[in-house]
Amino acid sequence: MKKKQSNDLYLASVFVSIIMAFFAFFAIRPMEVSEFRVNNTQFPTFFRVNVELSDLFIVNPEQAVLAQKSSFDPNKPMVALTFDDGPSQVTPKILELLKKYNSRATFFVVGNRVGNNAKIIQDICAQGSEVMGHSWSHDYLTKLSESRIRKEFNDTNEAIYRLTGVKPAAARVPYGSVNEKVRKIAREEGLSLISWSIDTRDWQTRNADIIYNIIISSVKDGSIILCHDLHSFTAEAMERVIPELVRQGYQLVTVSELLGATERSLEAGALYSSK
Ligand SMILES: [Zn+2]
Repeated sequence: MKKKQSNDLYLASVFVSIIMAFFAFFAIRPMEVSEFRVNNTQFPTFFRVNVELSDLFIVNPEQAVLAQKSSFDPNKPMVALTFDDGPSQVTPKILELLKKYNSRATFFVVGNRVGNNAKIIQDICAQGSEVMGHSWSHDYLTKLSESRIRKEFNDTNEAIYRLTGVKPAAARVPYGSVNEKVRKIAREEGLSLISWSIDTRDWQTRNADIIYNIIISSVKDGSIILCHDLHSFTAEAMERVIPELVRQGYQLVTVSELLGATERSLEAGALYSSK
């Protein structure tokens, strides 16, 4: 009787293995082929959402990770809200709003703030938004040595990777301070650089109405919008900005999704400011 049970168990495990192999061949393999075709050697670590199977996976060449349900239509208007300089106590408020409106954003975090805000970093990913680096110390990278610039990128990305299991494929430099030296190191590290097309200057105006008006008066398909998740007035603006953008038919996506929807080939070291 005992022998029969173990035989049954063996047959059941063989059966499950065959089903899994079948799924891996017909579901995973075509997805890799279609996605990796755009991820050429110039841009080896960029990941993008597979449109057909976007409910299940975000794909990158190193690993396929199960993601939040995050489907979007690359043929419909989309914008990327981006938040720099956090995480902070304001970040969870913005995450709540994104969740409420089934939207996502990209958070460019300062490396030296990651350790003390580990839970928030993980919550960003769990919500379906993404985390990328904004240097370790928020210094002007153009003034630093090559080895220090490399360390600013890598230490931040490692801290993010330890918490999320995802190594960012892009970064944003503090103050938009970029020159050929910074771009060369980004290129060597396989990172593209993300700029913006709408600067809310929220840190300067410190007023939710002005932040709202700047975004709504200039938004268009493909905009990358710069905000900071440090201030309550920014979160207050988002209470109106996010529903209004959704009402106007914009899909609020991550930077990876926005750039992944473009037909251009993406390059490490290149600077992107919109779709
Ligand atoms: Zn900054």
